Amino acid sequence: MDVNHDNRTLPIVPLRGGVVFPGATTTISIGRRRSLAAAQAAAKGDGQILILVQRASEIEDPEADDLFSIGILSTVKDVLRTTHVGVQMLVELHYRVRLDEIADREPYLIGTYEEIEGETDAEANELIAEVIAYLEQYAETLGELNRQVMSTLRGMDTAGELADYLSGLLSMPFDLETQLLESLHGVERLTLVRDYLEKELMIAEVKTRIQQEAQEGAGQAQREYLLREQMKAIQKELGEDEATVSEDLHEKIRAAGMPDEVETRALDELKRLERVGDHSAEASVIRTYLEWMVELPWSSTSEDNLDLNHVRQVLDEDHYGLDDVKERIVEYVAVRKLAGDKMRGAIVNLNGPPGVGKTSIATSVARAMGRKMVRISLGGVRDEAEIRGHRRTYIGALPGRIIRALRDVKTRNPVIVLDEIDKVGSDWRGDPSSALLEVLDPEQNHSFTDHYLEVPFDLSQVIFITTSNQTATIPPALLDRMESINMPGYIEDEKLAIAQGYLIKKQLDGHGISKIDVAFQEDALRTMIRHYTREAGVRQLERSIGTIVRKLAVKVAGEESGPFEVLETDVLDYLGPEKFTHGLAEERDEIGVATGLAVSNFGGDILSIEVGLSEGTGKVQLTGSLGDVMQESAQAALTYARANARNLGLDPAVFDKTDIHIHVPSGAIPKDGPSAGLAMATAVISAFTRRAVRRDVAITGEVTLRGKALQIGGLKAKTIAAHRAGIGTVMLPDANAKDIPELPERIREDLDLICVSNLDQVLEVVLLEALEPPFSVSQKPEENDKQFNLPPATNGNGSADQSGHLSS
Ligand code: ADP
Repeated sequence: MDVNHDNRTLPIVPLRGGVVFPGATTTISIGRRRSLAAAQAAAKGDGQILILVQRASEIEDPEADDLFSIGILSTVKDVLRTTHVGVQMLVELHYRVRLDEIADREPYLIGTYEEIEGETDAEANELIAEVIAYLEQYAETLGELNRQVMSTLRGMDTAGELADYLSGLLSMPFDLETQLLESLHGVERLTLVRDYLEKELMIAEVKTRIQQEAQEGAGQAQREYLLREQMKAIQKELGEDEATVSEDLHEKIRAAGMPDEVETRALDELKRLERVGDHSAEASVIRTYLEWMVELPWSSTSEDNLDLNHVRQVLDEDHYGLDDVKERIVEYVAVRKLAGDKMRGAIVNLNGPPGVGKTSIATSVARAMGRKMVRISLGGVRDEAEIRGHRRTYIGALPGRIIRALRDVKTRNPVIVLDEIDKVGSDWRGDPSSALLEVLDPEQNHSFTDHYLEVPFDLSQVIFITTSNQTATIPPALLDRMESINMPGYIEDEKLAIAQGYLIKKQLDGHGISKIDVAFQEDALRTMIRHYTREAGVRQLERSIGTIVRKLAVKVAGEESGPFEVLETDVLDYLGPEKFTHGLAEERDEIGVATGLAVSNFGGDILSIEVGLSEGTGKVQLTGSLGDVMQESAQAALTYARANARNLGLDPAVFDKTDIHIHVPSGAIPKDGPSAGLAMATAVISAFTRRAVRRDVAITGEVTLRGKALQIGGLKAKTIAAHRAGIGTVMLPDANAKDIPELPERIREDLDLICVSNLDQVLEVVLLEALEPPFSVSQKPEENDKQFNLPPATNGNGSADQSGHLSS
């Protein structure tokens, strides 16, 4: 078969899997029938051939579109058949030409081409020098280029020539090679080559460094890390820096500072992620898991400030009074300072009603020590998983609150405030308190394991501060680990000082008008304390101040610039009608009504205990959500009254013919605890003897069947409540005399504290002279009914917005 070529038609050899460049003589393997035919045909004639590069190597019979249009005009020098590598042709590569069209496909590809006009080349000395310098380094690092090559290329004087020569020599990525093939500008080509060399050098350096490091005794994990780094650096250098999710995660895992075994675990998960593929359902579970893992502060810590003076100063700056609390905190920090990381101290629990500054103290501790702080509210937490997380098999699983909080604060040594630890419940979902125990126990918490993470997290550097409204409902095992500091509440003067020194400023700052001159007159504040709040702490007070400040802020916005003075008379305008009457002292002394004292979640409070009698069969009925212990107190009171009937001037038979109704208003609040015993007995006896009880006296103490007064707890909170309610005298058991020195000075001054050992002593003080004869069943029923009209509940027993468990 004879093919006639004019000077523009040539046999074509399509090249796959590589690129050739002008200026060299090289061998090309021939695998395809048509290529062999083309080479042989050329060799038979003048040897001219057109070498074109295939875009994709897998195409067997390329069309024009499958080929780069710029090719190399070459001369076939020889076609060799070898046993090992098959057929090869030796070709001399001349210069670039452009494919015009493919004219025929049989017996081999034949095409027309055109010469390229406008190909530029230049002497770019600086660029050439730069490239040579890189090459020298490159040669040194890789040991790949020999002297001969170096001297050859030193002899080249145009950029394009040098670029082509090097392109043929270096094994560059295919994309870059085809770019170099198609570029018709010498300087451009050499610039590409230079950039490539620069990258390669960087990679080579990274490799060398890594290898060195790897040799210097790196463990298996580290070596793997280094190799990955190497891969990443290389990929980055190759411009493939759109890191895939898994590379990204990998980097984050390495950067997270995890302990070795945790890191190994994370890397295993990552491998699993790579295996399951990006789009499986499992992948997203693993990814979420790894994202949690890398976001945790495994090793990031903030530096502690353990300067005791500084701590004291910050606590003082933020809080009025609370000297004992501050002292304990300073002691705690001192111990921490001495013990360092080995601190195995008790957990501080701040116990007291709302608004007494528990959270605020904890915040100050964090500020003083230079730590981050995070709060976790445990109120109503019943599920262990809230603390310890869900296992990952659970759909929508998450780590527990502790781990979540740590992720949020981003340091592993924050102050974590566990709020309302007394309100943790337990049910079939498990017992959160056992998980909490592990969290709080210094012996265990260095390896706290969240179900979701499945790896231990060291909590030993965390300072835990818990808060509670009462200690009675804290599980004993937890309570054992805590050092409870009581914060029972403030008396009026303290509230005033807190308002003046802190709350007003805080509210002004909070409303962005701190620059405005605002003064609250003392009388205004006292009115607010007395008639607009009823609380042990200062929350309602702060809120009321906030309300007024907001109204002033509106004025400021309306161009009124102040200074403002809030007078007592203004309070009514700003806050509306008074919400509470101040205290009980103004109230009438009544028959069958005694004042007791109790402590609830909201602090101390006064209880009005009301007893009504009616003809009946000796039944005792209690209302007002009274717990079992209150019931027992009532029975004890009754037994005492019965046994002492004669001394009290009563007919013992009257008890069997009378039904007794005991009521403690504020019905929805469950009340319990024995300390209302004396007061309850007093009310019962008052009802039978029809002697009124002094309303300005509050009574606290447990009572035995024989009328003995027994010790009670929470005296401080109770006396504060009595003081707040305007009560002048508090009767308490002898056994509590030892607590009196600890009461606030103001309380000791203002209140008449009478210690008693039995009920008789109480009755002597509180029962007034009889104005009418004792209760008897021979009275007309109407009169008995009248007895049942209980006095209105105007006592201080919890305002409507309070709820909680009263215990006395
Ligand atoms: P708790 O956590 O006990 O419910 P908070 O810490 O939230 O109470 O206190 C309520 C508000 O009263 C906060 O603004 C707090 O700063 C302020 N406060 C409470 N006690 C004091 C105090 N002794 N000195 C200054 N501010 C106080």
